[in-house]
Amino acid sequence: MTRVLSVASECAPLVKTGGLADVVGALPAALAPLGVEMRTLLPGYPAVTAKAKGGKVVVRFDDLFGGKATVKAVTAAGLELLVLDAPHLFDRPGSIYLNDEGLDWSDNPERFAALSYAAAFIAINGADGWKPDVVHGHDWQAGFVPEYLHGLSDGESDPPFVFTIHNIAFHGTTSGDRLETLKLDGWRFTANHYEFWGQICAIKAGLTGAAKINTVSQTYAEELMTPQFGMGMEGVLQARKTDLTGIVNGIDLDVWNPETDSEIARYKTAKGKVKAKKALRAEFGLPDSDGPLCVLVSRLTSQKGIDLLIDALPNLLSRGGQLALLGSGDTDLEVALLELASKHDGVGVKIGYDEALSHRIIAGGDAILVPSRFEPCGLTQLYGLRYGTVPVVALTGGLADTVINANPAAMAMDAATGVQFSPVTADAFGNALLRLCDLFEEPNAWAKLQRNAMKQPVGWETSAAAYSDLYAQVLKG
Ligand code: ADP
Repeated sequence: MTRVLSVASECAPLVKTGGLADVVGALPAALAPLGVEMRTLLPGYPAVTAKAKGGKVVVRFDDLFGGKATVKAVTAAGLELLVLDAPHLFDRPGSIYLNDEGLDWSDNPERFAALSYAAAFIAINGADGWKPDVVHGHDWQAGFVPEYLHGLSDGESDPPFVFTIHNIAFHGTTSGDRLETLKLDGWRFTANHYEFWGQICAIKAGLTGAAKINTVSQTYAEELMTPQFGMGMEGVLQARKTDLTGIVNGIDLDVWNPETDSEIARYKTAKGKVKAKKALRAEFGLPDSDGPLCVLVSRLTSQKGIDLLIDALPNLLSRGGQLALLGSGDTDLEVALLELASKHDGVGVKIGYDEALSHRIIAGGDAILVPSRFEPCGLTQLYGLRYGTVPVVALTGGLADTVINANPAAMAMDAATGVQFSPVTADAFGNALLRLCDLFEEPNAWAKLQRNAMKQPVGWETSAAAYSDLYAQVLKG
């Protein structure tokens, strides 16, 4: 039995802004059959404390970065949670990361330093007799764990730290004069540890302090070592190259199951897909059409290539294709998409975050679009594969690793599962949409693609084994 303390700022189904939450929420159940007992340390945001009621206080802090705090052990949504109840840091309305003006909460460095500190404290002192063998941190919010392990321990007995990068774009950087407030050891404010261009950098602390680093696909792991994708961390990652691996995310096969999904008429056959598509068209006010109904569910940001979609869309519409889109994010993209929808009958846009609708969309679409400029793993293309909703994806990160492009060889070998495009430009995307329309117009080719897609394994089995192996490696030293 290996005990692992997972440390993260999000965890589905309790609190989620993106794929990080899905992974953190899925890992414990995926790893349990492999002899890994995982507990998840989460901030006590209102969303978490509302769902994870009660519990037992297992750690108390008289002053944790400016106020009293406790850690409560509680079971919720099938997860063994350790909730960091620190009202001065986490009990506030609105977004977990942003204030009313859409800016980072000014005390985000302290908020997530506190999370990392609590993790290190539990790793060294245990919580109600439970002591982890490994600490597994996710993204910059857990980056300072190795620093606090260093500060709190005798240096001999601290458990190894595994660090997973879900998105390198967020660094958790703050001014160099906050060393004391963040309880960091000033001697280590150097380029070898967490200093980055004169600032304190949480993700760098994690990258330099981890025994092993992984990210959520092999292609993204390689991309991260280049200036184009490394976002300034490429040098740090090149230096850790031998300790860096990629493990692709899985999806929850019970939650994303076309045969049991309560959001749609069940379908085991192509007929069911037709029904789900009809219902989706009705929901989005789209007329009938012979072209493919393309869907997209995403944060609306430049990372996700939404501007490329806006430019490439005329190609799809020119062939009778349609778009049903659900997302929220940058205001200018939201406005541009709503404008498109008002101009074209074949475009339906819903701005917002809606899990149930996302199921109906994935189920009802013919194809799911993921034109991301970078994509560590990506989940919606995996949902698409499972639902026979053919992915059209940029050739980057996890999209490159999880979709097999429908070139003639892959079609002939019955291996193709989707359409990929490269370079990641509006032109190339536009051409991919035309290729999609060509395939859609050939019923045999289309049925083949859908069948191949639905056969592709997208669950956690292989990846959970890879994580378990990673823990075994760090435990061996
Ligand atoms: P990222 O983590 O970069 O946002 P991923 O593809 O890894 O991208 O994960 C996004 C997750 O969030 C998926 O589960 C996706 O279905 C979900 N999601 C994104 N936007 C919405 C939305 N507007 N409504 C419902 N679910 C959404």
